[in-house]
Amino acid sequence: MADRTEILRELGLLPLWHLRRPVSTPGQTRPAAEETATASATGALAKDKAPTLPRAPGPSADRVQHIATLGWPEFAADVAACTACGLCKTRNMTVPGVGDVHAQWLFVGEAPGAEEDARGEPFVGQAGRLLDNILAALGMRRGQNVYIANVLKCRPPGNRTPTPLEAEACRPYLDRQIKLLAPAIIVALGRSAATTLLNVDASIASLRGRVHLYQGVPVIVTYHPAYLLRNLPDKAKAWEDLCLARATVRRLQSESEGGVGLQTAAAGPILKPN
Ligand code: URA
Repeated sequence: MADRTEILRELGLLPLWHLRRPVSTPGQTRPAAEETATASATGALAKDKAPTLPRAPGPSADRVQHIATLGWPEFAADVAACTACGLCKTRNMTVPGVGDVHAQWLFVGEAPGAEEDARGEPFVGQAGRLLDNILAALGMRRGQNVYIANVLKCRPPGNRTPTPLEAEACRPYLDRQIKLLAPAIIVALGRSAATTLLNVDASIASLRGRVHLYQGVPVIVTYHPAYLLRNLPDKAKAWEDLCLARATVRRLQSESEGGVGLQTAAAGPILKPN
């Protein structure tokens, strides 16, 4: 694995600036990165009034019911047999998801690209290499406490944006993965993942910097790695988002251990989905 300096350089986060001495106010116990994240999370609360996404006609109740009963062993085979939308005609492989089924961290992208479609694994192309570097910067790696999935399990031709119909048709699979995984945190990579999970019609910029909820699970919204490859200055903002995600997991852990938790005034309330 690349060393930390290489990873930070890849993420566009060098040079590093270090505080000469810790800045703290009486009564504060959390590290500075968490405080920054908490402050931005709290500061943006008043603006959370994004319109909900108009939903395309959903899958049949029978199909939803069937997928809701799947376990991990049969999940991938069920996806592989799926013909719920037109993408089944153009895909090479289905891309159900990959990783540790006991992971605390779930990363959700948009849809497989050409390399993913050829290999059946999410984020194995250029964007995937950046995602791996982001994970490494967080001290994590693919498959260890991390699960990676997409909104769509099949590649849209030419990597076009998923249609609302495709996202709705595939949604029961993502819902089931989240239910089975019960992650501590979901990181929505890009607008498709964020708007699908949160059921809102909003920009990434308006959704970043706050903790949202998907059926009780905290969701952090950040830029898609493919976007970051084209917009290098935004890597620093993505890093802020991931620090917020890490701080949220730590606060949850602390809460479950009886310490200061997510619902304290200092952390600010978590946003409920629309
Ligand atoms: N982009 C995504 O959103 N998902 C992938 O799996 C690959 C690229």
